[in-house]
Amino acid sequence: DGFFDRLQIGGGKLLAPQKVLNAVNGVSLSIAPGEVLALVGESGCGKSTVAKTIARIHAPTSGEINIDGTEVSSLGQKELRPFRRKLQMIFQDPYASLNPRQRIKDIVIEPMRAHSDRKMSGRELEAEAIRLLGRVGLNAEQANRYPHQFSGGQRQRIGIARALSVRPKLIIADEPVSALDVSIQAQILNLMMDLRDEFGLSYLFVSHDLSVVHHIADRIAVMYLGFMVETASRDQLFTNPRHPYTQALLSAAPSVDKSLRKPDVEIAGEVPSALNLPSGCCFRTRCPLAFSRCAVERPALRPQPGGGSVACHLHDPAPEAFPS
Ligand code: SF4
Ligand code: MG
Repeated sequence: DGFFDRLQIGGGKLLAPQKVLNAVNGVSLSIAPGEVLALVGESGCGKSTVAKTIARIHAPTSGEINIDGTEVSSLGQKELRPFRRKLQMIFQDPYASLNPRQRIKDIVIEPMRAHSDRKMSGRELEAEAIRLLGRVGLNAEQANRYPHQFSGGQRQRIGIARALSVRPKLIIADEPVSALDVSIQAQILNLMMDLRDEFGLSYLFVSHDLSVVHHIADRIAVMYLGFMVETASRDQLFTNPRHPYTQALLSAAPSVDKSLRKPDVEIAGEVPSALNLPSGCCFRTRCPLAFSRCAVERPALRPQPGGGSVACHLHDPAPEAFPS
């Protein structure tokens, strides 16, 4: 235990190697043990790229991934191994990542066999897989079935059991419930929260759905066009969103209690191409509050009085009031 005090992805640019479009700029995150950090934004904003960068620990072009004080993105494959298994991912479509020819107990056994500290016998592995499947709500008889014999929600349970099998500290969940019916969503989210306490997990939870995020997040980071524009505690973000984009996202979310929010902000227009970012603030082409400075200067993500951080010139505290 005590695997990490904080996971930090810091500074500069995280650039996925394959695609320029996946560029993510100036993203800086830290996740505390037991914390649920949600990364939100519209599709294409770079939140999945951030999640994948962390999950694979593939080296950012600049910036770093820091786990409990160790800069891990520059480590070799061998040194990375113990870190890698502590970060497990669950996906929006678990079916795509489940081998259709494997019984689900074998799907859960496979990572255990690869990562276990000690050699476990076949019988021990099977017992542990059945125990984990039982913990996520699937019985021993079901453990012998194949992925296609399960519903979407059950498949997500299988994916969770597989992730748990190597005793991770951080689970990176990319839209894990967005393909499921709302009633099933709540069951999976509640299961994830129970497992957090039982297994001492942290979550990085990627979602475009604010009602889901409201349900589970301790802290929220909002992304737009590859930039992080606001971070805040859950309560702060929903009662007092500070960045105009966050305000607009909340205004547009049908299922979030409207009485919680203060300003009603609407955004017009299309999301600009990430290949052709606006000058200055990336949100200025859609921001109802934009003013002259916004076109010439990119706002930095600044810590705010009262906690969290905002990248907007309207929230640029006077230097003497709040030294950075
Ligand atoms: Fe809007 Fe300007 Fe703030 Fe950007 S910096 S969000 S354009 S007010
Ligand atoms: Mg995505």
